[in-house]
Amino acid sequence: MRVVITGGAGFIGSHLCERFLADGHEVVCMDNLLTGKVENIGHLFGKDGFTFVKQDITNFIHVPGPVDAVLHFASPASPVDYLRFPIQTLKVGSLGTHKVLGLAKDKGATVLLASTSEIYGDPLVHPQPESYWGNVSTTGPRSCYDEAKRFAEAMTMAYHRFHGLDTRIVRIFNTYGPRMRLADGRVVPAFLSQVLRGEPLTIYGDGSQTRSFCYVDDLVDGIVRLLGSNHTDPVNLGNPEEHTIKEFAEIVLKVFDSDVGMTFLPLPQDDPKVRKPDISQARALLDWNPKVGLEDGLRVTADYFRRELVR
Ligand code: UDP
Repeated sequence: MRVVITGGAGFIGSHLCERFLADGHEVVCMDNLLTGKVENIGHLFGKDGFTFVKQDITNFIHVPGPVDAVLHFASPASPVDYLRFPIQTLKVGSLGTHKVLGLAKDKGATVLLASTSEIYGDPLVHPQPESYWGNVSTTGPRSCYDEAKRFAEAMTMAYHRFHGLDTRIVRIFNTYGPRMRLADGRVVPAFLSQVLRGEPLTIYGDGSQTRSFCYVDDLVDGIVRLLGSNHTDPVNLGNPEEHTIKEFAEIVLKVFDSDVGMTFLPLPQDDPKVRKPDISQARALLDWNPKVGLEDGLRVTADYFRRELVR
């Protein structure tokens, strides 16, 4: 296959580029480098079948030659990033998705949209199945991301229904691993960089809010399976092992045998109180289950952050 990966220089995008190349496909990686980094794909330059195009996909996308699949992963994805870039976030989720769908229609390619657990908002149903419609603020600080992704799902389904485009939608729950930015503000890089620097872990609120953390290799495996399926309705991918943020901090302290302790800071507005994927669809349709345990995944991720801190 020849695949276009938007956001290919980002955290998840760069792992996808690597995986598709390793599986023998050609990869056209597109990124405007707003939150992505060339360092994430530096090792891929010069490999057979890899091309990088610096492109803002909210403008017309031109790709010469055939394309079999477009994986749309371009977007700021950490709450800190999308608060810094709210308009870019809305534009890439709306205009960018429209351009991606137009490219795929022109090429007769399959589109896989990276959606998110954020479309469930501050959920009133727990755990969250794909059938849940969500509880989302249209105007709050997270709305630029949540509503852009909800629009992106609607636009993708409209292209599927109206133009007969072959589409997939993955709803990604909290994912972590190497190539997250040390300072992207999300809880895994925050706690790991704090423990490595010998600073206390910053817990927002009382730490009773919950999240469920999936290692990036597991996620990528699920995405490859979803693309290869014929399932056009959204599918949740994430690790259903749920922890409160305070429990998660305790796990980090234990794994790294650290006594830096914790400090409690105000909870950001509209921070979801619970989050845990119902992955029965992914299990049944894709025969997918996350395999990497939290402690193992955290150790590998910390090795990466250690190298980044030295650099
Ligand atoms: N969080 C925290 N300390 C930090 C960063 C985040 O307690 O230094 C909390 C945050 O308030 C949220 C959870 O950890 O409840 C996960 O936050 P993250 O930004 O990773 O992603 P989210 O799941 O909110 O999109």
